[in-house]
Amino acid sequence: MPEQQSQTNRWHARQADEALRELETSNTGLTHEQVQERLYRYGPNRLDEAKPASVLQRLMRHLNNVLLYVLIAAALVTALMGHWVDTFVILAVVVLNVAIGFVQEGKAEKALQAIRHLLAPHAVVLRDGRQQDIDAAELVPGDVVLLASGDSLPADVRLLQARNLRIDEAALTGESVPVDKQVEAVADDAPIGDRVCMGYAGTLVTQGQARAVVVATGAATEIGRIGRMLESVEQGTTPLLRKMEEFGRVLTMVILATSAILFLFGTLIRGMGAGEMFIAAVGLAVAAIPEGLPAIMTITLAIGVQRMATRNAVIRRLPAVETLGSVTVICSDKTGTLTRNEMTVQEVICAGQSLVVEGAGYAPQGALVFEGVAIEPVALLERSVAFLGLMEAAALCNDASLHETDQMWTLAGDPTEGALLTLAMKAGLSPASLKVDRPRLDVIPFESEHRFMATLHTTDGGSEVLVKGAPERILSMCSHQLMADGEELALEPARWHAHVEAQAQAGRRVLALARRRLPNGKDMLGHEDVASELTLLGLVAIIDPPREEAIRAVAQCGAAGIRVVMITGDHGVTASAIARQLGMGDDVKAITGPELEQMDEAAMRQAVAEARVFARASPEHKLRLVRALQANGEVVAMTGDGVNDAPALKQADVGVAMGMKGTEAAKQAGSIVLADDNFASIAHAVEEGRTVYDNLRKTVTFLLPINGGESLSLLLAVLLGIALPITPVQVLWVNMVSSVALAMVLAFEPTEADVMQRPPRRPDEPMLSRFVIWRIFFVSALFLAGIFGMYQWMLSQGATVEAARTVAVNTLVCMEVFYLFSVRYLKSPSFTLEGVKGTPRVLMAVFGVFALQLLFTYAPFMQSLFASEALPLSTGIFVVLAGVAVLVILEIEKMLLRRLGLGPS
Ligand code: ATP
Repeated sequence: MPEQQSQTNRWHARQADEALRELETSNTGLTHEQVQERLYRYGPNRLDEAKPASVLQRLMRHLNNVLLYVLIAAALVTALMGHWVDTFVILAVVVLNVAIGFVQEGKAEKALQAIRHLLAPHAVVLRDGRQQDIDAAELVPGDVVLLASGDSLPADVRLLQARNLRIDEAALTGESVPVDKQVEAVADDAPIGDRVCMGYAGTLVTQGQARAVVVATGAATEIGRIGRMLESVEQGTTPLLRKMEEFGRVLTMVILATSAILFLFGTLIRGMGAGEMFIAAVGLAVAAIPEGLPAIMTITLAIGVQRMATRNAVIRRLPAVETLGSVTVICSDKTGTLTRNEMTVQEVICAGQSLVVEGAGYAPQGALVFEGVAIEPVALLERSVAFLGLMEAAALCNDASLHETDQMWTLAGDPTEGALLTLAMKAGLSPASLKVDRPRLDVIPFESEHRFMATLHTTDGGSEVLVKGAPERILSMCSHQLMADGEELALEPARWHAHVEAQAQAGRRVLALARRRLPNGKDMLGHEDVASELTLLGLVAIIDPPREEAIRAVAQCGAAGIRVVMITGDHGVTASAIARQLGMGDDVKAITGPELEQMDEAAMRQAVAEARVFARASPEHKLRLVRALQANGEVVAMTGDGVNDAPALKQADVGVAMGMKGTEAAKQAGSIVLADDNFASIAHAVEEGRTVYDNLRKTVTFLLPINGGESLSLLLAVLLGIALPITPVQVLWVNMVSSVALAMVLAFEPTEADVMQRPPRRPDEPMLSRFVIWRIFFVSALFLAGIFGMYQWMLSQGATVEAARTVAVNTLVCMEVFYLFSVRYLKSPSFTLEGVKGTPRVLMAVFGVFALQLLFTYAPFMQSLFASEALPLSTGIFVVLAGVAVLVILEIEKMLLRRLGLGPS
């Protein structure tokens, strides 16, 4: 049993070093042994899940259903009338129904549970003096964590160092304006909102960076103490399921009213016995209500969510599953999503000189080719001071690190920076020893808004600031350029811009590097220090090739009527070149962020109608773009990773957050999280979304006509005043056993071949479309004809009512089986090799149903329960023929509708 953590320590009123002492830790974090011991002592950093409903509560929930009330009432009445067999069957059905709902709910819940695990938050800690990325559940008091903008706080922390830190504490205090944080202690009695030196679990860093020590984990955190669960996957339903539930409720009421009218009609007008008529009315209700539908729809959705997760798209909000099927525009980031994010420097340009860099990946192997020949690094750096200065800046103005294990080089940090480290190492420099020689005094971290990063270092006799970033940004800060011989001449902007343009044309990302000497004694860096008077060292050109699978996915989206739009922080020309390589068009002209800023609402709507590439765009532009696209009637999926992307992700119809490089803020705002950050996974999610919708529609189209056929048969019998062709308990058998078993198959149906060749579904398209309604009526009529026809035909052959009913039930089930084969392909022909072969699941269900029907017909105990009778085998041939007839007629119908262009959309 984990020990209770102290809750009386007033961490906010203590100074940082005092807190470290108290927690028996240091600025560089805990050791492995300390962590193990504390993990054992305090338990994992996890909040108890909301208590799951008890078995009894869950059972009661499933019993709370109008149909079951009807059945229980029917069981009572049949018992009063002494029809014990009926009572027994009806009660068995009640139990079965509750059990099926129960098990299915468990399955759906399990699917979601597995996904919740995928979304577990991470934390960056210092342990054993090393920076590590760990599962937030493994945090213990005393751990030192590093926080950056976009992170969700993994535990309650006392800040040790903070730079421009702002935290959104709405989750805890309800205050929506982010709070400025600092490390100084506050008054002992300060309320939570004023404890500016603290950070609380579940709140979000919106800006800045910090180092902090964990003071409370799990249930001991503030959020744990107020017992609020932070949901990682939203429970619930989707608009479509809600509509169907509503439809189901109305349908049930109509059916109950019809049954009541039928009862009155039979007893008062036809003069039939009340008992007999009651059974008929119950039979009608049971026949007409699609009992299995809600459960099967829920499970179809859960299966879809599970399938998406296996294809790297994790659903956080269920309605997204549906919306995905209607997406018309996907706005995607470029770097890492459409491209591989494996950056390699290919060329370095200094004033008047250029260097080709060979090799690929992060391994520091590859020749430097200068003036057409490979050159030794030492010789190169000796010949050109500019190259030396640039390489040093590349290594120092850098937060990434490279590690070699078994001759494999892996990167920790930003790929752009990794490429620069590799470059410096190819030039023979050692970034690690450079960092020791010229320690960093301060940093302005890279943020997409500024598009540069700057670091301040000591250098002989003073300090020097090194800057790297987007070339147009850096060029605007520079006044001079460094020449090969060390001379500093006035900057020639036009020449540099021409170089940038030429590199970008080839799809390369260009970064500029610059430096500036600062007065002695300077140890803090402000934006004003880098705003002007910089000396340009040169440019580096980096390739980041498109992902192969993204090229395929872009083409697939095109065929599926979905426009892919690239929104990137990169240079317009680079972005256009990459778009071309991705097959987004040969002449894609990028619209840039500054151009967007000039546009008003109307101009923006016009611009987004056709455009494929937006470059140098920042997160605010994303929000405006989504709005403009939506105003044009588009259904928009939008990707994002940064904290500032959150509003755009929320605004989009489907917000897609990056699982690997995305911040916690983006993940919380998104309705989908991509486990592999890959564009192709969005296309897969759309495909699965469309499949889910197809399967839901197939389920509805399959089940409703069966209920329709059964109830019409019973109605017709009562209206004609003849014996029922199928008794109520037999209807229950069909609905609860065969129909459910067969319909369940549809939840698992694989994707149809043409799913990504159709245009997106209109979001307002009703599930019960004209086609589905037509199918319900048409197939109901076919079922009515089959049931009634076979029943009457058997009677005319001199069979007993029991035998005729057994034939009617078997015909109904057989027609269901053949109808299942038809429904699996709503639009395309079912008479194909694949269609006839079915899937193992289909065959298993059909075989199972066949075996059950044999039992129903021939097993003595079933005969006594359901009043069925053994049939001669020859009758079976006619039963099968009736089923085949349904399939053939529906194939002809499909063909005719296709010819007339009236099929389902
Ligand atoms: P996306 O395509 O996903 O929007 P991006 O990487 O192209 O991502 P940003 O990360 O916003 O966009 O980068 C914008 C520009 O800032 C880049 O084109 C590059 O010039 C510059 N840049 C990127 N990373 C760094 C960095 N670590 N330090 C300095 N400048 C950088």
